[in-house]
Amino acid sequence: MTKNSSASQFIKPLFGAVCVALLALALTRPATASARTPAINLSSTEVTMLDSLKGLSQKLRARMVTPSKAAGIAVLRKLFGDSLPHRAGVYAADTGASFHFITMRPFADKVKGRIGAYRIGFFPNERRVVRSAAYTNPEGFVEVTADNQNTSVSEHFRLRDFLTHDQVQVWPKYLVLREPLVDKLELVIAELGRIGIPVSRLRIMSGFRTPQYNAEGVGAGGRAQDSRHQYGDAADVYVMNGARDWMSDLNGDGRIDSRDARVIAAAAERVEQKNPQLVGGVGVYRATSAHGPFVHIDVRGTRARWGDL
Ligand SMILES: [Zn+2]
Repeated sequence: MTKNSSASQFIKPLFGAVCVALLALALTRPATASARTPAINLSSTEVTMLDSLKGLSQKLRARMVTPSKAAGIAVLRKLFGDSLPHRAGVYAADTGASFHFITMRPFADKVKGRIGAYRIGFFPNERRVVRSAAYTNPEGFVEVTADNQNTSVSEHFRLRDFLTHDQVQVWPKYLVLREPLVDKLELVIAELGRIGIPVSRLRIMSGFRTPQYNAEGVGAGGRAQDSRHQYGDAADVYVMNGARDWMSDLNGDGRIDSRDARVIAAAAERVEQKNPQLVGGVGVYRATSAHGPFVHIDVRGTRARWGDL
């Protein structure tokens, strides 16, 4: 399965459901002055479609759309006027603001490797022919501001969790993030819970990496030139259950090492077995002086395994 086909599997049901969600919102809007307004009266079919927005985990809390796709959705235009298709931003999809639609900046807004003051760099496919459709340029970028950075993208994750760790003072920042990654991370948390390992936080050590930032670490033992982190569908994670920002002792053997990372990797393996559409990479990394053990998880669309498994 290529990345494109898995992406379209997400996107097609999404737009049908977007229409239903926003139509429902439009219909009930006049009544929302009362805080006790009853819930939207949806048919069972519509409820099913709304649930499809929340992913396999049912824990997604945001969906990202490109302006060109948003412009083609009549209900979006009706609700938000001409501002939505063209203006990047985070829009509450329901009255409780428990779900958001995020209109991205199109890829073409990146000029000379940057948008505004934020440096992004050049994607592999801007420089050369890439190995597969999964490595074509992303469709667009989420514009993350100081004000919207805490927007939940799912039950356990916010936009800011996935940002590249550089240009600390520059706002807005730009982010590539794919919903299937967030969905998979939520399912890993649920799977760990299922086997009796509580997760107070699945810490994202590294989520999106701009090509420019990624290139700084390319080399032997370092980052891959074609790293999935540049495509918004990879995250390096560990379970952080205490105050210390470090992996927790997940297997209870009194040590914190690769064996704890393998517990997360095994959970990711089971998530893929149950949800083949989320297949991707899983890599286990040992601790160094700079970081504790962690697991790389991605949704590249083909199976890949490496590291201290
Ligand atoms: Zn990684």
